Amino acid sequence: MTDVHLNIVIDPDAGVCPGVRRALKMVEVNLAKDILVAVGDVIHNKREINRLAELGLDTVDQNKVSDKTGLNRLKNKKAFIRSHGVAPELRALLESSASEIIDGTCGNVKKVQKLIEQFDKDGYQILVVGKANHPEVIGLIGHCVCNAVVLEEKNDLKKVRREKSVLLAQTTVSPEKFSRFRQSVIEQIPDVKVIDTTCPYIQKRRQKLVRFCHTVDVVLMVGGRQSSNTGILYELCQKVNSRSYRLESEDDIDMFWFRDGDTVGITGSASTPEWQLKKIADFIRSPFKGSK
Ligand code: SF4
Repeated sequence: MTDVHLNIVIDPDAGVCPGVRRALKMVEVNLAKDILVAVGDVIHNKREINRLAELGLDTVDQNKVSDKTGLNRLKNKKAFIRSHGVAPELRALLESSASEIIDGTCGNVKKVQKLIEQFDKDGYQILVVGKANHPEVIGLIGHCVCNAVVLEEKNDLKKVRREKSVLLAQTTVSPEKFSRFRQSVIEQIPDVKVIDTTCPYIQKRRQKLVRFCHTVDVVLMVGGRQSSNTGILYELCQKVNSRSYRLESEDDIDMFWFRDGDTVGITGSASTPEWQLKKIADFIRSPFKGSK
């Protein structure tokens, strides 16, 4: 393998999305002057979480906030709400215990929360395409007083009631998934109101990623195992370039993925910081003499 020459390219459009970038900045600024407790992982990326923990960030499991131990960890400390946002009920609980709320909810997610709140008040059945156990979706449907239906799998369509309804999406859902559910829901409720709430940044990112995947021989999609956006973008890479691989760190790399003369493209999801892409590039460069 020592004679293999590779051209390594880092995707210039990769890096964390604006919502996550803003959240990370808020965490770093607050940690510099205070104790900060995050409610749930700030980012679906283990290595970045470890970096923030080294800076002093404490993280409490979102599901445990309502029990005594969770609340005690927040007592008189600043609580950080990540970009996924939270339901009003959880926010009220945080306000009752923390000294201050630092709200990192992404503006796009806030818009969807407000839409849901308004349509719920106006008597619509709320239908959300997304992952039922994803924190963003839990926060979104927490904005309904009435029952919302999360459409994750085909079977979920059975829960849809034939009444005045609005269909929205978790911000990171793929356009294909949203459009499949839109078609099925329209068949059940022809006058359903449809609002595409997928994130505009992610839509553009997908187009740029397709172009990037066409320009390289091998694609490395770097991202956390828990990150649904990494999974969605990885599927897209595979469709464009069959030599695409998903990895979390350099430990997952198999050098037999590469052939002499390959151009290897390193990219990431909305929750993959640039420093991790660089680390992968440095790792691949190290054993090959002559790699550019
Ligand atoms: S993916 Fe879009 S909606 Fe989600 S945090 Fe990032 S910018 Fe906000």
